[in-house]
Amino acid sequence: MYVPNGAWGITLLKEKLRNIKILRSLKTRIFLILLIVGLIPCIWMRHAILQNYEKRAVSVRTSDISTQLKILANHLITYHYLQDTSSEVINAEIDQLSSLYDGRVMIINGDLHVVKDTYGISENKTVISEEVVRCIKGESTSRYDKDNGYIEMTIPITETIVLGQDEPEKAENKEVVRGVMLVSASTDTIMATMVILNRNATIVEVIAIVGIFVISMLAAKCLIRPFEKITEALNEAQEGYTNDPISVTDYLETEHIGDAFNRVLGRMKLLDDSRQEFVSNVSHELKTPITSMKVLADSLITQDDVPVELYQEFMKDIADEIEREDKIITDLLSLVKMDRTAADLNIAQVDINMLVELIMKRLRPIAQKRDVELVYESVRPVTAAVDEVKLTLAISNLVENAIKYNKEHGWVKVTLDADHQFFTVEVADSGIGIPEESIEHIYERFYRVDKSRSREIGGTGLGLAITRNAIIMHRGSIKVVSEEEVGTTFTVKIPLTYIAV
Ligand code: ADP
Repeated sequence: MYVPNGAWGITLLKEKLRNIKILRSLKTRIFLILLIVGLIPCIWMRHAILQNYEKRAVSVRTSDISTQLKILANHLITYHYLQDTSSEVINAEIDQLSSLYDGRVMIINGDLHVVKDTYGISENKTVISEEVVRCIKGESTSRYDKDNGYIEMTIPITETIVLGQDEPEKAENKEVVRGVMLVSASTDTIMATMVILNRNATIVEVIAIVGIFVISMLAAKCLIRPFEKITEALNEAQEGYTNDPISVTDYLETEHIGDAFNRVLGRMKLLDDSRQEFVSNVSHELKTPITSMKVLADSLITQDDVPVELYQEFMKDIADEIEREDKIITDLLSLVKMDRTAADLNIAQVDINMLVELIMKRLRPIAQKRDVELVYESVRPVTAAVDEVKLTLAISNLVENAIKYNKEHGWVKVTLDADHQFFTVEVADSGIGIPEESIEHIYERFYRVDKSRSREIGGTGLGLAITRNAIIMHRGSIKVVSEEEVGTTFTVKIPLTYIAV
């Protein structure tokens, strides 16, 4: 059989406790802690008081009996009772003592013979108990037998004799033990008081337990109230009754929860706003080519005897609009794929030099068409863990923009470099540049510095948004430096090894 060791046993116990639903409630825990903290002193106090009373009562009774016995011992010597037990006075005194303490008195002489026993059963017998022997040597003893309910005491019967009576100046008193008094006194009265005390204590204790129980329950309820308030506020916000920020300032903790939730709410609102804006932008962008197509088609339909040339011209315009619509949809799909949260990167070791060279090769015809010189400089060979398709799209967009927004006889220079951690792709151009106030917006979806110009050269306003998302997915960064009429430089920095979070 498998026996769990200590640590494993504790883990198992914790796991079991965690499975008990009610114990996972903070309210129950606070209640239990308060109850235990309240009950322990209550129970301990009752026990301590009773024990203390018993000790004290036994000690008082012992010293009481001891005083009486010492007086009796003196009388025994005075009346020579050890030699002759016929003294009425002493016998009466002994009987009185025995009935007073509801016990038994035995008078034992120096030879350990019982000369008097109030029970009358041990007279003339010899007693050799340890206590009696110790007492005959002068030592008083007392013992409390709780189980049988009595105190047993021994008191030496001593006689004072004067030594050296011939020389008065040297005379001294000496105590000589002549016998022993062995007494057992009942502690029934103490027990009776204890029973009454115990009963009273039980009543008080029960009242206290009920009180502590109720107080603990109320305290736990009160202490947990701010958390319930937070839950209520969260539910209200979730059901959409309110958009107000949540604020429960009773505890620092509830305040922190409220603040954190308000931050999440703010972010969600921001996302919602941006989604709405995106949808309205998409609709608008998709609607423009359709409107143009409708205008072109309508004008052909409404005119009679339209010459073939006009038909051809209009149909070419319609084909251009369809191409544009297609480009917007393709870009939108790329953007959706680049959604950072739904990231599905296909990471592999890729030769970045090759990747950039291929992009340059593909874009060279467009550059030539616009009379833009395309230069590529690779400082060192670079291999990195990237998603080839997404990175190609990102860099293509940058190089394409550099060609598109260039001047006649302009140039585009792409530089690839790396250190031990990152590789950088720099795309510099001698183009029209970006106005300073537009720089912070260029990564926004559908943002274009000059809408009509961008449209003219086939821009959708989504290229840089796609680029930035792809770079962020690779945990990289993108920076731009631009001067109007001088040129623009985009710098992309991406880690050589991909670190998934
Ligand atoms: P678009 O499809 O219009 O090119 P982008 O998102 O790629 O959209 O770019 C957004 C805007 O940033 C462009 O419309 C353009 O005005 C500006 N831009 C981007 N790259 C450059 C560049 N290299 N030189 C000048 N302007 C640029």
